[in-house]
Amino acid sequence: MKKNDEIILEIDGYTSEGSGVGHIDGMAVFVPLAAKGDTVHAKILKVKKSYAFGKIIEVLTPSNDRTTPDCPVFSRCGGCVYRHISYKSECEIKSEKVYNCIKRIGGIDMAPQDIVCADNTFGYRNKAQYPLSQNANVGFFGTHSHRVIECENCLLQPEIFENICRVITNFLKQNNISIYNEEAHTGLVRHIYLRFGAKTNEIMVVLVINGDTLPFADVLTKELKTLLGKTLKSVQLNINKKDTNVILGDKCITLFGDTYITDILCGVKVRISPLSFYQVNRDMAEKLYKKAAEYADVVGKTVLDLYCGAGTIGLSMAKTAKKIIGVEIIPDAVKDAKINAEINGITNAEFICGDAATAAKQLAKRGEKPDVVIVDPPRKGCEESLLNTIANDFSPERIVYVSCDPSTLARDIAVLTTLGYKLVEYTPVDMFPRTSHVECAAKLIRIE
Ligand code: SAH
Repeated sequence: MKKNDEIILEIDGYTSEGSGVGHIDGMAVFVPLAAKGDTVHAKILKVKKSYAFGKIIEVLTPSNDRTTPDCPVFSRCGGCVYRHISYKSECEIKSEKVYNCIKRIGGIDMAPQDIVCADNTFGYRNKAQYPLSQNANVGFFGTHSHRVIECENCLLQPEIFENICRVITNFLKQNNISIYNEEAHTGLVRHIYLRFGAKTNEIMVVLVINGDTLPFADVLTKELKTLLGKTLKSVQLNINKKDTNVILGDKCITLFGDTYITDILCGVKVRISPLSFYQVNRDMAEKLYKKAAEYADVVGKTVLDLYCGAGTIGLSMAKTAKKIIGVEIIPDAVKDAKINAEINGITNAEFICGDAATAAKQLAKRGEKPDVVIVDPPRKGCEESLLNTIANDFSPERIVYVSCDPSTLARDIAVLTTLGYKLVEYTPVDMFPRTSHVECAAKLIRIE
């Protein structure tokens, strides 16, 4: 097989990024936008030792799973990967993806519980970070690139975000405010960052800028107030002057309103600052937390909530638990977590700012013996030293692992298995419909 070859390929599965996969002459061929069950006429774009990349020229026989994509930029956007198949098929793929990770990487052949599907696959996100094109229009980065493809309405974002973006981009154009150019590291406005309390309707608008001030900021605030009325709770600048593709800098300046918005999650009032993590899909986060609570079974127990963000998982369990200790590395999130405890009248929660592995060691030295440890790390998973501290120093009866990446979840479960823990059950949760991502909650118990 070589570049530019044209082949007929039957698609028999998916990659973890959501591309179709077919096999020919002992080679796996990855074809974006193909569906399992398709027969496609494809062109080979790149050949490696045991696999190749291709693109569809024509779908010769479509899979039964196929539907017509409902977004005009689906094939070019790096966000959604499953708009060409039914939602039911998407959930099956995600469930299988988690199962395969647990089996191949975790070394455990155990079927998952039924995936928790979303009731709503549209407009479910409560947070958006839009890059701007040099014409001052919002868009998204193309697949595997940092070229901004202009697009106003994303089907995953709430409709109000589109109107907010229009007000901001008109403001930028009318006042000739320069747009940041990533390659040259010049220009002022880098990103529009929006947050929405899905339960409270509160809105936060942040402009990420490569500078210290925004010209005519009061004009922008006035226009946003006209559009949003009372729902506009916070307008801020985030200062990011670094030559980096990390979106947010660590300093914020308030132009209007509060420094935060409030939402309600699992009955807990949650205050969220721009730099604090908050689950992007509120409805599915509630389902995920419910599953985590069932696995954690915290009644009367001391609970360690590692990677706690604004404290939400632990606080949602605080009423029945004896004590909650949360650990989080972002100072603003820890500040939010402490205030969240306060505004909810929760007095049995303590929050520590620091790296989870380091803080866990300190807590062990302090003599803490949590009965239940919950971890909810970013995609790269837990450090092995943390897993060691959890298993050897705390030895909790239960570990609940909440994960946004099944491959690192499986890797860490394999480690915990060698440290005296056993996977009892795990449940995929479709927190991010239409994208390749899937969330998961897993319950491990100590083997006596
Ligand atoms: N449990 C929270 C947050 C989960 S996201 C929730 O459900 O909302 C993962 C969190 O881990 C983020 O808040 C991130 O800031 C934090 N984090 C990342 N690396 C960390 C580390 N080394 N130590 C502690 N927290 C970390």
